[in-house]
Amino acid sequence: RLFSSYQAAYPEYYEIRILLPDGYEDTRSAPDLEHNRTEDESGTEFWKSLVANEEDFLVQFAENPDNGQFVAYVGKPVLIKNAKVDPILARPILRGYLVITIRLDQLLQRIADTVIGSHGYMFAVDSSGIVRAHKDPAKIGQKLEPGLFEEMLGAAGTGAELVTLLDGQKLHIQGKRLDFNLWLFTSVPSAEFVIAGKKLASVVAGITVLAIVVTAGMLFVFLNAVFLAPVRGLRDATRQIGAGNLQVDVDVSASDELGELARAFREMGQSLHRSQEQIRYHAYHDNLTDLPNRFMFHEFLEQAVNRARRHQERLGILFADVDGFKRVNDTMGHHAGDELLREISARIRSVVRHEDMVGRADDDSPNVVSRLGGDEFVVLLGELSSEIEATKVAKRIIETVGRPYTLQGQEIYIGISIGIALYPDNGADAEQLLKSADKAMFHAKASGKNNFQFYDPKMNAVAINHLGLEADLHRAMNSDDLFMVYQPKIDLRTGYTVGAEALIRWRHPTEGMIPPAVFIPIAEETGLIGALGDWILLQTFSQVRDWQDTAAGNLIVSINISSQQIGNPDFSMQVAEMLKETGTRPERLDFELTETSVMRMENYVDEALRAIRDLGISLSLDDFGTGYSSLSHLRRFPIDYLKIDRSFVDEALTNPDDDAIVTAIIGMAKNLGLRVVAEGVETVEQGAMLWQRGCDFAQGYYYGKPMPAADLLQRLQEEHAALLEAGESVLPAPAKKKPALGGAG
Ligand code: C2E
Ligand code: CA
Ligand code: CA
Repeated sequence: RLFSSYQAAYPEYYEIRILLPDGYEDTRSAPDLEHNRTEDESGTEFWKSLVANEEDFLVQFAENPDNGQFVAYVGKPVLIKNAKVDPILARPILRGYLVITIRLDQLLQRIADTVIGSHGYMFAVDSSGIVRAHKDPAKIGQKLEPGLFEEMLGAAGTGAELVTLLDGQKLHIQGKRLDFNLWLFTSVPSAEFVIAGKKLASVVAGITVLAIVVTAGMLFVFLNAVFLAPVRGLRDATRQIGAGNLQVDVDVSASDELGELARAFREMGQSLHRSQEQIRYHAYHDNLTDLPNRFMFHEFLEQAVNRARRHQERLGILFADVDGFKRVNDTMGHHAGDELLREISARIRSVVRHEDMVGRADDDSPNVVSRLGGDEFVVLLGELSSEIEATKVAKRIIETVGRPYTLQGQEIYIGISIGIALYPDNGADAEQLLKSADKAMFHAKASGKNNFQFYDPKMNAVAINHLGLEADLHRAMNSDDLFMVYQPKIDLRTGYTVGAEALIRWRHPTEGMIPPAVFIPIAEETGLIGALGDWILLQTFSQVRDWQDTAAGNLIVSINISSQQIGNPDFSMQVAEMLKETGTRPERLDFELTETSVMRMENYVDEALRAIRDLGISLSLDDFGTGYSSLSHLRRFPIDYLKIDRSFVDEALTNPDDDAIVTAIIGMAKNLGLRVVAEGVETVEQGAMLWQRGCDFAQGYYYGKPMPAADLLQRLQEEHAALLEAGESVLPAPAKKKPALGGAG
């Protein structure tokens, strides 16, 4: 590469080679030259001269056997002393020769173009009498008549002028040897001397001599400036690079042009080195967090796996994905998102260091933190002693990431889901390991987020196979693999089932149950949500209509609406049509929208929501409390119900902060005329606490898991029967009854 870069800069250097001391070609760079007639150069004239040469380098003109061109060879012995191995006083050893083949076209052309007087010209001949430069191209390559050539040489040797008859013309020929293998001659017709007289003849002779001197001088300058000086620089640089010093450091003590050149050469080398380092840095680091990026991580991981294989060590890969990062981006803007990612990366890094680098220099750490892109981070734990170590790191990451952040003056909380894969247990190579850790991460997400999971071969593979899943999902819509289940929603004052949330289920023919938290985002990403959303609406509408005159006829059934559905300007019209087609009563329906999706559509949200309300369908704000928007901000939206997110309900009993939040949300919602639904109620204590705080409705495993429509109907029939038996009306009078929290039983 170095040689061809020189060739790009000096096109005359059309062949650069390293010959070994025995004459064999070791390296050859000759981009324009296909043929290499011989690899053994030991028989050539040039080689013999080169070996015999005692100077620093040798210049010789000769014909290149590869293409027949007349060229200059520049050769230079390469003497190297290996300071690591050789004794200090040892002499450098001859390792070979650097040989450059230089194109002479320009020089030969210049000789051919030289005109002396009006008809005189100049030509060049090599030692064997072959014409190498001549104004008549037909003559080039032809051999002079041996007798004449001998005479010419004889005259040139003594500096005399040869007068000879050639092609019927009397010529004055003078010559000078330029090199061992190159003679320069001038030829001036006698006629010119006759015309100009004797006086002129001496002028012409003077001019002739001058021409030779000037040309010879030019040749010398040409050789020195163009060929020899760069050759010296090249020699130095080559030596440096040979010694493994990529930052070329050329001696700059000389103050002449050579020194200049050397300095320029060194500066070029240094700036090249700097920009190379920069490019390398950017190619291998993430701009936002300065962490090693995906490419660098792959390299690290591959090395680590190779090392672990050799030393029979274990490795751990932690694949971490920030929970609900998109929400921060959507509600607070990209700047806030970037800031959050930077903070998260700093926290992860500090934990990984802290955990395993006590008493170690940074560079020695076997651990690497990297950002793979988006909100995904990955940690490589090298020299892992046991799974417990990986567990410890994962716990610490979750703990540190879970601490509050202040973004734009607002305090926010965020979680992170981590998948762990171990080498060699969960993958034999880097790629396999990453895949396993990714899979485990998806399971951490699916099992409630903000936790970690070790890879288990039984984990289903679907989560990462987006493309395949998309096609499968398409097919599923026309099969029984997709179906709706209904989770009861109870009135906390009475304990009776008053509503249900419709939730979609997918039983994949080969992968088993796939949670909606996995495939809904994929459907949203791929645009399939449009068709899927329509399918869900149609299914649920039909179900609600079928229930119309049964015990489930009074239920208000909630349907989750994706932000892309509500964002479609025709949405309310389509819903209206579907209501008509199915004959469903709108007052039995409720649409659940997340805080995030409402915030995202800012401008036309009012209109869109009102259009739905005008149809007679009520609206719930889902997952409230996770989107960082304030309740007062939401006041202007026409909402009926607020669903407090499961995470608060979960914690409210143990964490006073969460209890305060739940109390505050309920209080504010009441002030705004909204009714409150609590999600994810799993224990009787939670239900009691919510009721005490004034919460209206509750939903959760404690009251009933999502179930098929038929089961829900049966449950309602049983509730009715119990009521009738107790002599009460089917619709209990609100507020009078004591709370009956044991709905599930
Ligand atoms: P979501 O709207 O917040 O739905 C509530 C989720 O909490 C449901 O999970 C439900 O099964 C679960 N859940 C209910 N009670 C409890 C409890 O006591 N404890 C725990 N740990 N979980 C409980 P699911 O069905 O897996 O749905 C997850 C999410 O997928 C939903 O969250 C919703 O965002 C989305 N989704 C589900 N069905 C649909 C649908 O038909 N359309 C759309 N657009 N999204 C859907
Ligand atoms: Ca919901
Ligand atoms: Ca929810």
